[in-house]
Amino acid sequence: MHKMKTAIFPGSFDPFTKGHEAILRRALNLFDRIVIGVGINESKQTGWSGETRIEALRKLFAADDRILVEGYTDLTVDFAARHQARFILRGVRTIKDYEYELTMADTNRRLSGIDTVILFTEPQWAFLSSSLVRELIHFGKDVKPYLPEGLKYE
Ligand code: ADP
Repeated sequence: MHKMKTAIFPGSFDPFTKGHEAILRRALNLFDRIVIGVGINESKQTGWSGETRIEALRKLFAADDRILVEGYTDLTVDFAARHQARFILRGVRTIKDYEYELTMADTNRRLSGIDTVILFTEPQWAFLSSSLVRELIHFGKDVKPYLPEGLKYE
């Protein structure tokens, strides 16, 4: 029998950008199901509340039953276990991302044996980050080109 291959895609997604969307779309070729894990950290100053980030993504992906969206406040490996996921999906833009992702992947493998699957960003999104989008909004700039078509935070 075919076993469902599930990955979680954890992140702050504050906001979810076209860079995140591209990684998610490409990973749908690798996994049967992807659970987007919106990390909620009360001590971290965020642009949008956890609830708002979750709702916006649920609406965006409502038509795709291979994509689920859940919030979590505990360890990523425990979130993965709750969803029977054996893989963590992450994206890498730069050497700086690489170093961070390497330590996170090693930690998570030690904790639970879970493997991290890294996809390299497409060059057109290598500059793009959630913090850049928040900064552009702060200065009144149009960020539509950087957000997935149809994504709305309200
Ligand atoms: P975190 O706070 O956990 O780093 P983010 O929401 O910033 O969460 O990012 C989630 C994942 O998406 C991370 O692996 C990050 O490196 C990746 N990512 C963020 N922006 C991009 C992008 N433009 N292209 C590819 N991957 C990206």
